[in-house]
Amino acid sequence: MRRIQARHLRLSIAILTLVLAALTAGTWAIQKYTIEYLLHRDAVSSGHDWATYLAQNVGDLEGIAAGEAPSDASMAFFTRVQRVGRVFRYKIFDPDGRLRLVSDELSAIGTDRQNLTEHNAAAARAIAEGRPLVIAKSGKPPNRPPYFAEAYVPVIVGGRTLAIVEAYVDQTEKRELFNTVLSVAALSLSLLMALAFAVPAVAWYWRTRENQRADAQIQFLARHDALTGLANRAHLGERLRGALSQAAEHGGRVALHHVNIDRFKDVNDTLGHAAGDQIIATVAQRLGRFAGEHDIVARVGGDEFVLVQTGLAERTAAEQRAAEVTRAVREPIAADGHEVTVTASIGVALAPEDGTSVARLMKSADLALDHCKTEGRDCVRFFSADLDAELHGRLAIEKAVRDGVAHNRFELHFQPLFDLPHRSIAGFEALLRLRGPGGPIPPATFIPIAEEMGLIGRIGAWALEEACRVAMAWPETMRVAVNLSPAQFAAGGVHETVARVLAATGLAAHRLELEITESLLLGDTEAVLAELNALKALGVAIAMDDFGTGYSSLSYLWRFGFDKIKIDRAFMAGYDAGDRNVEQVIRTIVALGRSLDLRITVEGVETERQLRFIEALRCDQAQGFFLGRPIPAVEVAAQLLGEFHKVLPFAGRGAPRKGSVVGP
Ligand code: C2E
Ligand code: CA
Ligand code: CA
Repeated sequence: MRRIQARHLRLSIAILTLVLAALTAGTWAIQKYTIEYLLHRDAVSSGHDWATYLAQNVGDLEGIAAGEAPSDASMAFFTRVQRVGRVFRYKIFDPDGRLRLVSDELSAIGTDRQNLTEHNAAAARAIAEGRPLVIAKSGKPPNRPPYFAEAYVPVIVGGRTLAIVEAYVDQTEKRELFNTVLSVAALSLSLLMALAFAVPAVAWYWRTRENQRADAQIQFLARHDALTGLANRAHLGERLRGALSQAAEHGGRVALHHVNIDRFKDVNDTLGHAAGDQIIATVAQRLGRFAGEHDIVARVGGDEFVLVQTGLAERTAAEQRAAEVTRAVREPIAADGHEVTVTASIGVALAPEDGTSVARLMKSADLALDHCKTEGRDCVRFFSADLDAELHGRLAIEKAVRDGVAHNRFELHFQPLFDLPHRSIAGFEALLRLRGPGGPIPPATFIPIAEEMGLIGRIGAWALEEACRVAMAWPETMRVAVNLSPAQFAAGGVHETVARVLAATGLAAHRLELEITESLLLGDTEAVLAELNALKALGVAIAMDDFGTGYSSLSYLWRFGFDKIKIDRAFMAGYDAGDRNVEQVIRTIVALGRSLDLRITVEGVETERQLRFIEALRCDQAQGFFLGRPIPAVEVAAQLLGEFHKVLPFAGRGAPRKGSVVGP
């Protein structure tokens, strides 16, 4: 496209130059012709004047022309006017063309020496036709001036031709004058013409150049990142495709390094966007240092870069490069008055072994990067086959989640919660279930993926409504617990959803318990606290789930009035493993609960021994496989019935089987 435009431009300039040259040549031709014409006119008029002058002063001209000797007066005249004005020589012929007198040979007057027809046939013909003739000549000083004309003019008096005069007119000065004047005129004209053409031409040229420049800039911006000037994702795709087909054709490997700045969001939030931009620009510049002639550096996300190494012989070259990049990123960066040190996680995939298409290679590098992040960041990971299996597994789960949402395939199971020390059912916790093509998918696997896919809001809202609807069939003393993921809070409007569900199902608010995890309180705490308070204002209970695992900052407990703490099942596992701290920790949490007026539930109770242990610590509630596994909604009634009959306490009997009434 640009090449075609450049060719047009060159062609236009050539045409313009030709036109200008033609116009200039034309001007000079006209000038030459004009000078010749003017000199001709000048010679004719000088010749005429001279002839008239002669006729007026030489009374016996007719006689002289006829061959008689001139009178003394005429002779004196001839001698005097050998040179008059610009006529420096003259000849007088008789009307028949016989030469009678030559101004510089006055002694030979009258001799019949030459005939005009012989002397100049053209002049003779012109005179015969009654018109003058002028011949321009150039001469050699001192005998002749450089430029002169020979004008043949008839001397006519009273309608009769008395004689023919040949006047030699010096035109050197006139010619120079004409030349100067016309040259100046022609030059001015040429200049004017050049200006008339050149101004619009130059303007047009600049406009075209500007357009081309703007065009090139737009093309650049469409393919590059504005902040760093690096290739953007689209351009990376184009170039990587080229590099891959090149490698396929000529052999050699391509390495794709997916570089991610660790915890960039934190840096950005703490130091501000200006510093963030400076960090990104600096890292981009450092990556650029490593790019060879055929390598590619691109920015593919806020804090994500891709470095493509081409023409690789060995895997070790990629390992070396990744190590160099890691070191380069780690050098201190001056950002908005701070000295910042950042680290990078790098996922590397090689073509052809880890993928031969752009999409596949990027995905492989992505996966390696994810792996790197789960291993604590600031590291380099190469793609491997087991990551591939992980990828396929993940894609299958994504599909199951998508299908589950589209075809309402999610289900809820309900696990009983028991009040201690009586071991009576206080309610049930609703737990999501999803079946994939290869069997049930654990919620701990599909929920984080649904969160990443942005689908947890819809799934969570459905779970909430379904749980409340199911609970409406239970005795009024029974509560239902529903888990809420932090991602649901991120979208906001949780209390509105809860209020709507309560209204729609008719469940009393005090029968609903919402379980949240500590991680929720790590984020935008003020907004979360406001949301939690709004929920509490509805009358629902809020439980802190999985307590003791994650961040376990007691400050969260002080900041929000939880109704309940659920001690994570890891404590029961620890108790079984003989961890001596377990008793101390649970005792402390129970005491804390008492002082804050909140109930303590222990999860993951799998044995009689564990149950007796937490009963002895005076926990309020217990949940676990020993007391009851999660069961489908239709089996809840049977379990309640078993509980109601109290034929046999659950304790000591192991986990009840699915679908069976617990007890004999
Ligand atoms: P969680 O909230 O801690 O749920 C309790 C988990 O512990 C359930 O696993 C349950 O089956 C399991 N469990 C109960 N008793 C025992 C026991 O004695 N021993 C052992 N080893 N495990 C026991 P599940 O159903 O696989 O759920 C796992 C996690 O998935 C849940 O942990 C919860 O964080 C999440 N989840 C489940 N349903 C939902 C939901 O509807 N929404 C959200 N946001 N998350 C959910
Ligand atoms: Ca829970
Ligand atoms: Ca839990």
